[in-house]
Formats: sequence, C-alpha cells, structure tokens
Amino acid sequence: MIQGNCLCGQIHFEASEIPGMVFNCHCSRCRKAHGAAFSTQVICSKDSLKFSIGQEHLREYVVGNIVRAFCGNCGSRLMNYSKGPEYLSVSISTIEGRKELMPVGECFVLDKLPFVELGSTIAHYPQLPLFT
Ligand SMILES: [Zn+2]
Ligand SMILES: [Zn+2]
Repeated sequence: MIQGNCLCGQIHFEASEIPGMVFNCHCSRCRKAHGAAFSTQVICSKDSLKFSIGQEHLREYVVGNIVRAFCGNCGSRLMNYSKGPEYLSVSISTIEGRKELMPVGECFVLDKLPFVELGSTIAHYPQLPLFT
C-alpha cells in the first residue's frame, strides 16, 4: 500500500502498488506535465485508489483516454489514469515513506533529455511496456 499527498497537503490518497512496476518516463508529455527532466511512476491497481481527504481539490487534464490528475490548489502532479478500468500510475514524488521503491525500467528513452543518464542496470523501452 502506498500513501501519497500533494505539496499543500489538502489531498491525501492511498493505492495498492503492483510489485516491481516502477518506471521512469522520459516522454515529452510527462516532462511538460511534471516540469521535470522525467517522471517516475509507480503502477498501482486502479480499483485500489482511495482519497482520504481533499478529492474535491483534484483537477484533471484529459487528452483522449488519458487523465492527468493534479491538485487544483498547489498544482502537484499526483497520478495518471485512463478512463477505462486498467490503468493507474502514481507520481513517486507524492508517496510518503517507501524509500525502497526503485525504478525497474526507463521508458520512451528516445525522448529523453541529453543530460539525463539512463540506468545501466534496468531495462530500456521505446514506450511504456505495459500497454503496448
Ligand atoms: Zn495540493
Ligand atoms: Zn510519459
């Protein structure tokens, strides 16, 4: 179980992670949405997502079937999910504790910024390996 919250603390949530499913995503969409060189995402079961407080502050940016959710107060990127049932990825930066969670793969490696060094001991993928 992971527990996460946003920068301002108005949104708290929990979800059940799928073991061994942590990925760095270098795609341009994640980089822009996160304002970062890449995002690290923990894949969780979508059904397990629960908001303990602050769901009313959740805002969604929707493109196609993909929803990028963030806190409407502080702007923290929290998670991505599909409109369908299958997909939930949580931004690792929102998770409290759980320092043992480690990426197992680098995704969209052709899109990465030049200064970013890919992990040499984890898998590299041209896309997100889950749904391709
Ligand atoms: Zn917030
Ligand atoms: Zn991405």
